[in-house]
Amino acid sequence: MADFDYDLFVIGGGSGGVRAARVAAATGAKVALAEDNRMGGTCVIRGCVPKKLMVFASSYREGFSDARAYGWEVQDGAFHWDVFRDHLHKELDRLEQVYRNLLDGSGVEIFDSRARLADAHTIQFGNGVTKTAKHILVATGGHPVKPDMPNAHLGIVSDDIFNLDTLPKSILIVGGGYIACEFACIMAGLGVEVTQFYRGAQILRGFDDEARGLIAEMMRAQGIDLHTGTNIVDMKPAAADAQDAQKVIPTGSDAAMGADVKQMQALQDDVNGDVEGGPIWVKSTNGREGVFDQVLFATGRAPNTIDMGLEEAGIEVGRRGEVVVDEYSQTAVPSVYAIGDVTNRVNLTPVAIREGMAFVETVFNGNPTPIDHDLIPSAVFTQPEYGTVGLTEEAAREQEEIEVYCTSFRPMQTAFAGKPGRVLMKLIVSKKTRKILGCHIVAPGAGEMIQLAGIAVKMGATKEDFDRTVAVHPTMSEEIVTMREPMRTA
Ligand code: NDP
Repeated sequence: MADFDYDLFVIGGGSGGVRAARVAAATGAKVALAEDNRMGGTCVIRGCVPKKLMVFASSYREGFSDARAYGWEVQDGAFHWDVFRDHLHKELDRLEQVYRNLLDGSGVEIFDSRARLADAHTIQFGNGVTKTAKHILVATGGHPVKPDMPNAHLGIVSDDIFNLDTLPKSILIVGGGYIACEFACIMAGLGVEVTQFYRGAQILRGFDDEARGLIAEMMRAQGIDLHTGTNIVDMKPAAADAQDAQKVIPTGSDAAMGADVKQMQALQDDVNGDVEGGPIWVKSTNGREGVFDQVLFATGRAPNTIDMGLEEAGIEVGRRGEVVVDEYSQTAVPSVYAIGDVTNRVNLTPVAIREGMAFVETVFNGNPTPIDHDLIPSAVFTQPEYGTVGLTEEAAREQEEIEVYCTSFRPMQTAFAGKPGRVLMKLIVSKKTRKILGCHIVAPGAGEMIQLAGIAVKMGATKEDFDRTVAVHPTMSEEIVTMREPMRTA
């Protein structure tokens, strides 16, 4: 048998890669990991963690006004982005170090370098050095993508938000998925004027229709100028001189050859968007024109598979750029596995971690463990939050006969403060088995609630199990066990 430098080489130091490396090392395997950016990956450095801290930061605005209704004398204060951002980056530095220490402590050798596959057992670093491994785990994650349109480079993506020099006064957010909706709420909470364009009929496609409807309504009530069925048709720097320049400079014209050529070129660069920053003029499909300090493209993410040597090594890469794997996360090349967003299965941190653990169990503990992607609870951190597990009403209806239990009400805490906010609790129940097929909660703290409801649903709880559970009073979530009559059957 060939001698390898390592038993396992992990490419990518995100949540999935780091966990797999640590757990594999704990089995006695010789493990190395390469990361070309910051340790911790998308979730820790430019995703879930900084996003959630921004959710907290943005939620104080409502808190201050609610506090007055409860008798507190509270002044409306200004939000200082630079203070928050500096604190945020100190926290991210700390977390990155925690990740490094965890790897060090597990005996995983770290390479701060880009790495790609040279063949089925060989890794090549950016400087050309190679290392061999019996197994290779690709855990390179994904990256945000902008639409393919002229001047798209003027817009920012979610990665950029955490490094902004200043908080914009106004922002246009394009997209209707998790990231678009979460940042629309965050920015509105921080006092930014938010406009959101979504090309479809309703935001959060794929989620439960009633939940989507309520979230859209609550977002509008927060002051978010949400336009559905709308997209950008044109965008360019708003600077008047730059727009003039575009009108007067025909490419290669005599005018552009004259004494003012440098100045003209600078203006043309501005038009082309090579000069970053500054307000952006946008024209939308509904004919409206507007100027925004920033345009955020939250238009999806793509797997990090470019120039990784994957296809050359015989690994199948799918139409969306994802590494194609089987239920054990194994690629077409038996020594190479892939986990997390790079495989574009269920792109959530805890799922990547699970996939990493199942990989180690399969490969290093001799216990073949397929990934269970069924009934994964998740949350969208809009304000209010949306917690969900299982099927939407629409999907369940297609599958079998169902009963829908649903209630919507104004929660005590904010109703007392005179706020119009509503919450939604919804259970989709199989008529035949009585099992809960789906649970949907739109409410403050819904992310916390759905984690616990998710256990019951995963265990196969029936509606009658929920009914048997005594309510915790007075809470919002007690409604999930007190809905007696179905609202409808389908
Ligand atoms: P999503 O795929 O969820 O949403 C992308 C959005 O952009 C959709 O509304 C899509 O519209 C729209 N879109 C795509 N292309 C264009 C275009 N050319 N012009 C206009 N609009 C366009 O991606 P996100 O970036 O929001 O999130 C990526 C993934 O990250 C999520 O799927 C999720 O797995 C994960 N995530 C999870 C979070 C959580 O758990 N809380 C938070 C953030 C991210 P359409 O619907 O018509 O396709």
